[in-house]
Amino acid sequence: MKKEWFLISRIFLCFLVFYFVTLNLAYAEIIAIKAGKLVDPKAGTTTNNQIILIDGSKIKTIGQNLQIPKDARVIDLTNATVLPGLFDCHTHMCALIKPRAKTLDEFRGDILLYTIDNTTGYRALQGVVNALHMLQAGFTTIRDMGNAGNYADIDLRRAIDNGLIPGPKVFVSGKIIAPFAGQVIVNTEHSDLGKQDYIYADTRDEIRKAIRQNIHFGADWIKIVVDDQRYIYSVDDLRFIIEESAKAGLKVAAHTITEQGGLNTAEAGVASIEHGFMMNDKALEFAKKNGSVLVGTPFPEEHLKLMGIAEFYPAIIDVHKRAYKMGVEMAFGSDVVCEFLGKNRGELAMDYIESFLEAGIPAKDILMMMTTSAAKLLGLEKERGAIAQGLIADIIATTENPLNNIRTLKNVIFVMKEGKVYKQK
Ligand SMILES: [Zn+2]
Repeated sequence: MKKEWFLISRIFLCFLVFYFVTLNLAYAEIIAIKAGKLVDPKAGTTTNNQIILIDGSKIKTIGQNLQIPKDARVIDLTNATVLPGLFDCHTHMCALIKPRAKTLDEFRGDILLYTIDNTTGYRALQGVVNALHMLQAGFTTIRDMGNAGNYADIDLRRAIDNGLIPGPKVFVSGKIIAPFAGQVIVNTEHSDLGKQDYIYADTRDEIRKAIRQNIHFGADWIKIVVDDQRYIYSVDDLRFIIEESAKAGLKVAAHTITEQGGLNTAEAGVASIEHGFMMNDKALEFAKKNGSVLVGTPFPEEHLKLMGIAEFYPAIIDVHKRAYKMGVEMAFGSDVVCEFLGKNRGELAMDYIESFLEAGIPAKDILMMMTTSAAKLLGLEKERGAIAQGLIADIIATTENPLNNIRTLKNVIFVMKEGKVYKQK
């Protein structure tokens, strides 16, 4: 009996050793990045000649005179500037509209037509392409804000997490919850058409059910549209939505484009205010007091013209100027849904840098909105958004230092996500 136990324990030990050796060979490659310049967005500082050691998906250590392990794979970025991977907190991966609109109402028609013309399956495939382009542009984390048909966003997230397709780390909202008809204009014969992308929820019971449906299907955030119809969510409605979502640990992102909607949204204290184009100073004060983050999605003028809604541009720049001056917290979000200018989704998202510059926001703050501030909004500050020991290795590089020239982000030359290289020029 003793002999048998001895034998069994020996076999078990051999198996254990074999298991760990093969596991190490297969997965735990050490990578050493030689960074000519390394930017810390939060501090707004740059250090020279740093070595970043990456073990699997995480950053092991960083320093100037580190010993590079003999078997490490060395990535030479001595002529580049290295920084954390970027965030886009407002994407629509599974929507790709060719706008024909000349007014806001016509643009809503373009949205509706798109949802009718395209199945959820096709939209998932568009999501695959858009996600790849976002990653190649340097966005290693995104928060997708709906318009994904019948929950294609959930499948997109799953396919990326399972390593089936390349893409950023994705957080999703599922269907958008909104008062009757959501963001589109329907008629008496076709009032259900918008339901491909929206859950119409007007009463408390309908709102509660909509939130629970999204949570059940796997939403990370609750996305609502406050004021795209003449009837809008009140402060009490919004407080109810925040409370119901919080019961399951979710935060609320609220789309608002009117003055009253902006006021209601900020007063209720949602975690993230999307667009906020018509927020007055009182609304911005509420946002600051309640810790609501403005994801202002400042559309570049060129994009707005092609969408037929150029009249929004001055207000968009103005609210960003005021919010920055008042110290309202902001995070980067693009809200690209269209296809134009011969650019892919990642390139179009980078165009938004121009609007932040137009609003007079310094490079350091723009970079924070794209990294640390965004990570904080998403509750990821202990995982992503910085290059520090123990954090996930989401790392990009540019030819110039973005603290001196933020436009260099339009030409990202190296992308690593979770320790894996996806782009190296
Ligand atoms: Zn949006």
